[in-house]
Amino acid sequence: MYRIVLLPGDGIGPEIMAVAAKVLTAVADKFELAFDCQTALVGGAAIDAVGHPLPPETLELCQNSHAVLLAAVGGEKWDNLPSHLRPEQALLGLRSGLKLFANIRPAKILPQLIDASTLKREVVEGVDLVVVRELTGGIYFGQPKGIFTDSNGVRRGVNTMAYLETEIDRIAHVAFQTARLRRKQVCSVDKSNVLEVSQLWRERVTAIGQQYPDVTLTHMYVDNCAMQLVRNPRQFDVILTANLFGDILSDEAAMLTGSIGMLPSASLGEAGKPGLFEPVHGSAPDIAGKDIANPIAQVLSIAMMLRYGLQQPQAADAIELAVSLVLDQGKRTGDIMAPGCERVGCQAMGEAIVAQIHSL
Ligand code: NAD
Repeated sequence: MYRIVLLPGDGIGPEIMAVAAKVLTAVADKFELAFDCQTALVGGAAIDAVGHPLPPETLELCQNSHAVLLAAVGGEKWDNLPSHLRPEQALLGLRSGLKLFANIRPAKILPQLIDASTLKREVVEGVDLVVVRELTGGIYFGQPKGIFTDSNGVRRGVNTMAYLETEIDRIAHVAFQTARLRRKQVCSVDKSNVLEVSQLWRERVTAIGQQYPDVTLTHMYVDNCAMQLVRNPRQFDVILTANLFGDILSDEAAMLTGSIGMLPSASLGEAGKPGLFEPVHGSAPDIAGKDIANPIAQVLSIAMMLRYGLQQPQAADAIELAVSLVLDQGKRTGDIMAPGCERVGCQAMGEAIVAQIHSL
């Protein structure tokens, strides 16, 4: 019995989470899995109900679960609240409360959606990569940080890019283990020609790599990686990188696919502890409540939860196959609509995916 916490949040969140709940039921039936799903308050919805974006009961429920499935939080209604009370604080609270140090973002081009990319077909065809980004260290957290004024009254802005070798080791393990579930190639991205912190990064990743002789390890400078991602993205399987570089490269990689409504992500902590699985997109308030949101990123987040969080790769494969077959049928939500396809709403897309799972 897997305890799953569902966090619908705001905007299109409740709509796409309703689809996710049906997909979970279908997968449970098909693979004889048992999910105990509990829905909890998060984001603006939680602010409205209890005055806090991440109520302690929600965090506790998540900490005692096997996995957390989040939709999205945020919206104009809460934008003027003080920053510690804004919906996005819930994301930071979940990351720190669940000690999530690894962010995994796949960028996979589905053949049916190849023309949604802004890049040429021959460049993006067959792209299937993941970015493994360190999430709780590096320049966003290193000390000292701040804006300081010297004795001449001149201000100086400071951030510090620092990594403990233990932080590098644990994210490297995640990347190598992720590669073992895929094509067994890790490209570690750093700036070791300039930065000492990157020199340590490269040294430790190389050392950890020796524990994974079946995985091929290469290294690349971050500026070259940014270029290679648009020049020849097919060369990558797993990109392993630090917090700042990963923030930028994962957005670049995501745009290869051209469609934000299709992209899931996973944030993982220590082995055996609950991970957080969510779409890359936000709460899309502009289309909320209209039954036109694309639920596929949310559905593919369940596949990531099954693969990376619950070690149920067959069930994960089935969800991904069902999504692909529904796209083969020509069904499209508005954001991925193409000539000759059938436009469907959020719920109808969900029903089509559920029907496919049952018929596999
Ligand atoms: P967004 O991702 O919500 O929307 C960007 C654009 O993509 C919009 O036009 C939207 O309609 C479209 N879009 C997004 N998801 C879609 C889907 N599933 N189907 C169809 N179209 C989709 O980003 P934004 O507009 O910058 O932010 C809106 C709110 O979401 C803000 O409050 C922001 O802070 C919040 N946000 C939350 C998260 C999160 O919860 N992880 C992430 C990003 C933004």
